[in-house]
Amino acid sequence: MSENESIESVVIIGAGPAGLSAALYAARGELKPLVLTGMQPGGQAALTFTIENYPGFPDGVGGPELGELFQKQAERFGARVEFDSATDVDFSSQPFKVKTYNREILANSVIIATGASSVHLDVPGEAELAGRGVSYCATCDGWFFKDKEVVVVGGGDSALEEALFLTRYASKVTIIHRRDEFRAGAILQNRARDNSKIQFILESVVKEIRGENKVTSVLVENVKTGKLTDVRTDGVFIFIGHSPNNEMYAGKLEMDERGYLSVDDRMQTSVPGVFACGEAADGEYKQVVTSAGMGATAAISATRYLENLEN
Ligand code: NAP
Repeated sequence: MSENESIESVVIIGAGPAGLSAALYAARGELKPLVLTGMQPGGQAALTFTIENYPGFPDGVGGPELGELFQKQAERFGARVEFDSATDVDFSSQPFKVKTYNREILANSVIIATGASSVHLDVPGEAELAGRGVSYCATCDGWFFKDKEVVVVGGGDSALEEALFLTRYASKVTIIHRRDEFRAGAILQNRARDNSKIQFILESVVKEIRGENKVTSVLVENVKTGKLTDVRTDGVFIFIGHSPNNEMYAGKLEMDERGYLSVDDRMQTSVPGVFACGEAADGEYKQVVTSAGMGATAAISATRYLENLEN
């Protein structure tokens, strides 16, 4: 076996819409990409019950189903998808090194698609009651709240979409938002307002999540008056945004002040040959379709980079 045979052309870290779109394009470029799924194959999209704004699915598509379709399509052209996580990277010289739980991989190019994770409220009771009524995923945990009352924290698309989803199970869903205007789009706002199971507590923040072994209430403060109210609830679903999963690249790749990887319009990071796409590099748009587009761009750029590397 020659030395080069043990070097991957492209390793893709992450298997959400960005990583799997990159895999499709890299596979069709005959690069036989190796995709490391991380702990959440399908990415955040796979935690969404229905995705209504991915083009080509006029009736919507299930999040897990879309992830499976992305993977199947990439594999059809030769992508190899492994259930393993990158634990460290070394981009200081070629070939790059990607360490995983199982081994060390050498790669001539790397595409980072590690996405983002839910931001926590950081209030007393949140960590202690996680999994005991505190959740960051309605699709995963909504079923446990059949005929129960839940609160949803946040005012963006995620909060309203997940609140609407929770009305399938819960008898009452109270959205607690810190302002009196929502960040969420008009369609979701109208649907939430029209849903008789949804109530709102506005201009208010959760100061504490209470309960012994399970959530029983939240302490809510009105930000205008300072008035504190104990709101009885069986569950707390927190959707206050996401932060990029880029800790592994600190000091190795340039990032903006919020921790998103800096990329140029070819998705190239500060290290030539290392590309980034999806929410790891996008603090602005964060859509399945935009992540998929970034993934395709990253793979095309990696293909061109590798062509130049050979010459
Ligand atoms: P987001 O748009 O950043 O909204 C986060 C919400 O949480 C905001 O309403 C924010 O309040 C609130 N918030 C932030 N920190 C808080 C804190 N410490 N305490 C209380 N409230 C806090 O995040 P997202 O809803 O997760 O959406 C992320 C991206 O995904 C967006 O681009 C969104 O459009 C997209 N997305 C789209 C869809 C869809 O199209 N159907 C579905 C889900 C997500 P303020 O408004 O006051 O800042």
